[in-house]
Amino acid sequence: MRKNILAGNWKMNLSENEAIQLAKEVSEINMSNVEVIIFPPVIYIPSIAKLGLNLKFGAQNFYPKDKGAFTGEISINQLKDAGISYVLIGHSERRTILKEDNEFLKEKVNAALELDIHVIFCCGEELKIREQGVENEFVKSQLEESLFHLTGDQLKNITIAYEPIWAIGTGLTASKEQAEAMHLYIRETLAQKYTKDLAAEISILYGGSCNPSNASELFACPNVDGGLIGGAALKSTDFNSIANSF
Ligand code: PEP
Repeated sequence: MRKNILAGNWKMNLSENEAIQLAKEVSEINMSNVEVIIFPPVIYIPSIAKLGLNLKFGAQNFYPKDKGAFTGEISINQLKDAGISYVLIGHSERRTILKEDNEFLKEKVNAALELDIHVIFCCGEELKIREQGVENEFVKSQLEESLFHLTGDQLKNITIAYEPIWAIGTGLTASKEQAEAMHLYIRETLAQKYTKDLAAEISILYGGSCNPSNASELFACPNVDGGLIGGAALKSTDFNSIANSF
């Protein structure tokens, strides 16, 4: 059966001391029914890895080439050397601010899977797409263009995070009905492309202003298998209480 997952995206926040302290606190969360993964700023990954905590961690970004003249970039093999086992791909901030498109994200997916790094693949629509009533088609095209070239075995190394852009960092959360409807649609789309059994194994996380007061009702939805958390992942008390919402 698929796993409950709680992932914390720390984005470009915290000092090194704060990051180490937060990682220690997060590692004390009771993880009996949830897998917890943190995504710290890349520069703090070696210090966190050295702590040897009982905690999974990943990278927020990488460049999908092995090596070469890509000034300022970091490769997935360099990150793997630093101990990561997860990576975020397709976060809306990278799609919109850094202009990463579906084709480039497909290259990133391939590069990560080649090195056995588990991918949390983010998808989700802007408000104007939802207002036009075409959010399902929009999300489907994100999946088709970046993931649907994968074999079923490869897809098992993907977790999907549905993150409506209008809910990220805005304080607006999708209602449990909106979240469940999209998660169900994503699972049905996976079932059509692959098989029903495989679709049932893939964890689909919700992201977008998830916090201690709305996590329980979101995680109670049958097709919501956890959360990708931004702001509320920066305080261990909030993150801990979200982890206890399953
Ligand atoms: C995110 O950045 O993935 C996210 C969900 O952020 P927030 O929880 O702050 O909306």
